[in-house]
Amino acid sequence: MSTTSREPDDRAVRGLDTALTGTVVTPGDPHYEDVREVFNSMITARPAVIARCATPDDVATALAFAADHRLEVAVRAGGHSVSGASLADGGLVIDLRPMNEVSVDVDRRTVTVGGGATWADLDAATQPHHLATTGGRVSTTGVAGLTLGGGSGWLERRFGLACDNLLAVDLVTAAGQRLHVDEESTPDLFWAVHGGGGNFGVATSLTFELRPLPEFCIALLVWPESEGRDVARLYRDLIDTAPEAVGGGVIYHTAAEDDPVPPELVDTLCCAVLVTHTGPIGELREFVAPLRAAQPRGEFVAEVPYAEFQRMLDDPPGHRNYWSDENLRELPDAAIDRFCDRAQEMPVPSASQQLLFPWGGAISRGREWPGFDRGAAWAVHPFGVYLDPADDARVRAWSRGLCADVRPWGTGDAYLNFIGDEGHDRVVAGFGERHYRRLARIKAEYDPDDVFHRWHDIRPSRPTMAGAD
Ligand SMILES: Cc1cc2nc3c(=O)[nH]c(=O)nc-3n(C[C@H](O)[C@H](O)[C@H](O)COP(=O)(O)OP(=O)(O)OC[C@H]3O[C@@H](n4cnc5c(N)ncnc54)[C@H](O)[C@@H]3O)c2cc1C
Repeated sequence: MSTTSREPDDRAVRGLDTALTGTVVTPGDPHYEDVREVFNSMITARPAVIARCATPDDVATALAFAADHRLEVAVRAGGHSVSGASLADGGLVIDLRPMNEVSVDVDRRTVTVGGGATWADLDAATQPHHLATTGGRVSTTGVAGLTLGGGSGWLERRFGLACDNLLAVDLVTAAGQRLHVDEESTPDLFWAVHGGGGNFGVATSLTFELRPLPEFCIALLVWPESEGRDVARLYRDLIDTAPEAVGGGVIYHTAAEDDPVPPELVDTLCCAVLVTHTGPIGELREFVAPLRAAQPRGEFVAEVPYAEFQRMLDDPPGHRNYWSDENLRELPDAAIDRFCDRAQEMPVPSASQQLLFPWGGAISRGREWPGFDRGAAWAVHPFGVYLDPADDARVRAWSRGLCADVRPWGTGDAYLNFIGDEGHDRVVAGFGERHYRRLARIKAEYDPDDVFHRWHDIRPSRPTMAGAD
C-alpha cells in the first residue's frame, strides 16, 4: 500500500458512481454524515469516498478504483469496530450494507447472508423455522465482521463460536479475484477466515450451519454491587458443572429504570447474573434456584424468542467506546475479588458494563481455528460505553486496570473482537505466535500489499527456509 494517495477528482468519482450498481457518497453529499457514522462516536475519520456496494462486482470495481488512486481501503458492514477499522481518513470505504440479503435453506439447515447483513437480519429469517446459529450478544453487529473475527455469543457453549458454524465464504480478494472459499477448494484460506478477521478479502456472502432451537429462556437476577463478590462465586461454582445448554455471565452495570430492580437501585452500580438456557424453562428454574436463594433484589425469568432477546440488549449508538478483554485459564476466589473490586471504578451512571463470562462447552471442542486458546475457561471484558469525553482517561484506566488485575490467571492471548487497537504485539499474542505465522503466510498469498490492514493487522510474510514451520 502506498502512503501517497491521489485525491480522486469529481470526474473520477462520477465515473465510479456510474460503474457501480450501488452508489458513491462523498463529503459534499447531504447524506454523508449519516452514511459515515459508526457505532463508536470517538471515531471521527472522514473518508474521501464511500462506495456503497450492491454486488461482488461493485466490490472489485471499488477496490480497483482505490488502487488506481492509492486510497487506503476500509471495509464496513455493521460499523461496530470499536477501533474504527471500518473508516479510513481520506480513504475509500467499501460499504457493504446494501448487500444484506438472507436466504434460509430449511431442508439443509443452512443460511446464507450477504456481506453487509446484521445479526438482526439473519435471526429474523431463521427464527420462524426455530433454527439458529451462534451470533453476537446484540442484534446490530455485522454478521461478517463478527464471524470472521471468531464470533462470541449467547449460544456458544452449546453450538460453538459463530465461526465454528461457518461453512463457506464468497470473497473478493485485494486483486479483485472472486473466490468461493470452503474446506475443499481453499483449505488454508478457509482456515484463515475462521478467526483471522477481515485480513484476507471482502466477504460478499457467508453460509452457516443452522441448529434447531425450539426453546430459549433467560433469567436475570440483580443484586446491589456490595453483594457482587458472593454472587460471582456462586455463579462460578454453578457453571463449573453446568450443562452446555446454559450460558450467560456476571455483569456489573448501572441499573436502569426498565431493569427488574426496586427504585432505590436505579442509577446505582449493580451486579447482575444473566443465565441463558437453550432448553425448557423448568430446567432453567432448577438451575437458578441457588442464585434465587441468595436473595436478588430483582429478577426476571422468562421464555423469550432468541432473536427478541438479542434485540433487547442492543447498546445505544452515539456513545464513546473503550474496551478490552482478558481470557483466564481459571477463576479462583482471588481473581473474582479483583474483578469485583475494580467494578467500583466504572463510570456510574453510564451504559458501561464489566462482564465475566464462561467459555467452555462446545467452544472448547471446536477445531483449532486461528484465535484464542479454546482451553480458556473465562473471559473478563470491560466494556466502556459512555457519553462524556471527560471520562476518557478514567474509562481507559478502569479497563486497563481490570485486565492487569486478572492477568496473573490469564492465558496470555485475547479474544480480538473484544479489544480495540492495543498494538501489534497484542495482535500476535491474540492469535498466538504459531497461528500468527501461518496467517501471515496466507496473507502474503492473498493480500501481499496488506490492503486489508485496518482490522487487527496480520502483516504479510513469505516463509523463509529458516522460518518455515
Ligand atoms: C455493541 C457491540 C457489541 C458487540 N458484541 C459482540 C459479541 O457479542 N461478540 C463478538 O464476538 N463481538 C462483538 N462485538 C465486536 C464485533 O464483533 C467486532 O467489532 C466486529 O468487527 C464488528 O463487525 P461489524 O461489521 O459490525 O463492524 P464494522 O466496523 O463494519 O467492521 C469491522 C471490520 O470487520 C471486517 N469486516 C466487516 N464486514 C466484512 C466483510 N463483509 N468482509 C470482510 N471484512 C469485513 C473489516 O475488517 C471491518 O473493518 C461487539 C461490538 C459492539 C460495538
